[in-house]
Amino acid sequence: MVHTHTFDVVIVGGGGAGLMAALYASKKARTAVVSKLYPTRSHTGTAQGGIGAALGNLEEDHWEWHAFDTVKGSDYLGDQDAIEFMCREAIQAVYDLEHMGLPFSRTPEGRIDQRFFGGHTNNVTGKPVRRSCYAADRTGHMILQTLYQQCIKNGIRFFDEFQVMDLLIQNGAVAGVVAVELATGDLHVFHSKAVVFATGGHGRMWEVTSNAYAYTGDGVAVTLRRGIPAEDMEFFQFHPTGIYKLGILITEAVRGEGGVLINGKGERFMERYAPRIKDLASRDVVSRAIYLEIKEGRGVNGKNYLYLDVRPETVNYYAEKDGRTRPDGSPYRVTAEEILAKIPDITDFCRTYLGVDPVKDLIPIQPTAHYAMGGIPTNKYAEVVIDSQNTVLPGLYAAGECACVSVHGANRLGTNSLVDLVVFGKYAGIKAAEYANGVDFQPLPEDPTDFTRQQIDALRQGDGREKAAQIGRELRHLMFDKVGVFRTEEGLREAVEEIKELRERFRHVRVSDNGRAFNTELLNTWELGNLLDLALVTAVSALARKESRGAHAREDYPERDDVNWLKHTLAWLDGEHVRLDYKPVVITQYVPKERVY
Ligand SMILES: Cc1cc2nc3c(=O)[nH]c(=O)nc-3n(C[C@H](O)[C@H](O)[C@H](O)COP(=O)(O)OP(=O)(O)OC[C@H]3O[C@@H](n4cnc5c(N)ncnc54)[C@H](O)[C@@H]3O)c2cc1C
Repeated sequence: MVHTHTFDVVIVGGGGAGLMAALYASKKARTAVVSKLYPTRSHTGTAQGGIGAALGNLEEDHWEWHAFDTVKGSDYLGDQDAIEFMCREAIQAVYDLEHMGLPFSRTPEGRIDQRFFGGHTNNVTGKPVRRSCYAADRTGHMILQTLYQQCIKNGIRFFDEFQVMDLLIQNGAVAGVVAVELATGDLHVFHSKAVVFATGGHGRMWEVTSNAYAYTGDGVAVTLRRGIPAEDMEFFQFHPTGIYKLGILITEAVRGEGGVLINGKGERFMERYAPRIKDLASRDVVSRAIYLEIKEGRGVNGKNYLYLDVRPETVNYYAEKDGRTRPDGSPYRVTAEEILAKIPDITDFCRTYLGVDPVKDLIPIQPTAHYAMGGIPTNKYAEVVIDSQNTVLPGLYAAGECACVSVHGANRLGTNSLVDLVVFGKYAGIKAAEYANGVDFQPLPEDPTDFTRQQIDALRQGDGREKAAQIGRELRHLMFDKVGVFRTEEGLREAVEEIKELRERFRHVRVSDNGRAFNTELLNTWELGNLLDLALVTAVSALARKESRGAHAREDYPERDDVNWLKHTLAWLDGEHVRLDYKPVVITQYVPKERVY
């Protein structure tokens, strides 16, 4: 059965970016949020460490410093106009969240408290600066709850547990989306003037990941199938500190509060890789350092993990050695109680999953697949652009982790995703409503659910020779092995071939559940198809880029190459074939130079 709904603006996704877009769009236009998860289950709710903004509440700071750190963190691949826009807007965005009721942690004077995070510095001294605004280690949870309450208050329509499988484009402009309702299996056509994709990331294609099960790249896959390119997919961030084997994230805030990384010989090795800011260097640098330590035989017990140490005696020892002070100039010293108060959830994770108490024991960690820098290409107003000339597709917007503005370039700084959500989510909502109020509806295609049905039928009609679970396992293993922290020509070539084989085998998968209601097998299998498509685009983009920049580290091309590669990748998927093109990086005032931490 097919149902049809009509809205001016449809937002796909109820995470931080989607809810922010919904709030702003709904002020001017009839708006609906369509989300495969109940909104407060979105991955934004797991964000721990904080949201970056140069409030300067504890020490001198400026949004221009935040912008420079972001450009440098991006390894100069971020578009500088968008970065400046984001860092300037970040300050107001944090105050807006505060005024909506977000319970930030406070300084004794009652201001929003701020903490250290990797790559955020005082641009004059090069020392770390406290820029991350936080609510203990539950910042994302608080953002999501606050925004959801605001959306409910404003009467926004929610279609929860509806999975969008197709985007409708007519006469070169957006006409709506098609979704499956989980509870009934019915198809729903959302006829709309504007669509905002805010579907989050795709880290589930790697074996060890911090990402939620829902992180299957649906938005990027749906738009790719409709001829829209994906930008900079070769850049995927590995966070240095995932819990060993499980991948569950231990926030960088643990190092912000003074925790240090220790190798199997008990050494604090980051001093050798980033002499100035050590454990607070940017994530790509720290993840590579961990792998190099392991490669050189300094893993713990010869295994592929190291330790994160946040025991108060260690924190205090290194704080004294580094000459670290409190904002009032007194020496930085902490007690176990103070650490526990700052990272209560992390303490719980360690106790629950490892039986380890972080203020008494060492935490075993390894890099974990964490964040998609690449995604649906947009400009700084969240309008989707579809070629190297930045041509806008009328009515289509994207924001949050599924989008590539690009503010994170080749490597995102911690705390900058939450900033990205609130700033570009807001503009996506404003722009989508403005656009919708100025145009008529495009007519729906004659059979709007045609392509969605084709996709579903294909999953029901395979010969059943192959099992989705097995293909998923092989994909995650090969991506971690060959398209992970370090890459080579040979490994990437093999990866491309193996992914193509997996995609071929996927055609033989048959969903065994023939039911309609709550057919999660069907939807999970469709999601695996999305991951396979995005994996191919990722591996092909990575193979083509013959340099090392940010999170893309080629052992065979260890240097950054600005002469040939200071450009964004655009990738189109056509069956087996990935077509690549490139577009220039926007440079305003920060001339690319070597990155030293
Ligand atoms: C463990 C962890 C900790 C993090 N900590 C921080 C931090 O401290 N600071 C920071 O800046 N960043 C952090 N990040 C990154 C940041 O949290 C995410 O990048 C960000 O929250 C993504 O928000 P989003 O709105 O783009 O997506 P999400 O919040 O994931 O929302 C995506 C939404 O899209 C919907 N959706 C997806 N596919 C479909 C579909 N096919 N149909 C309909 N709906 C769909 C989902 O239902 C969901 O509502 C962290 C990430 C992780 C994983």
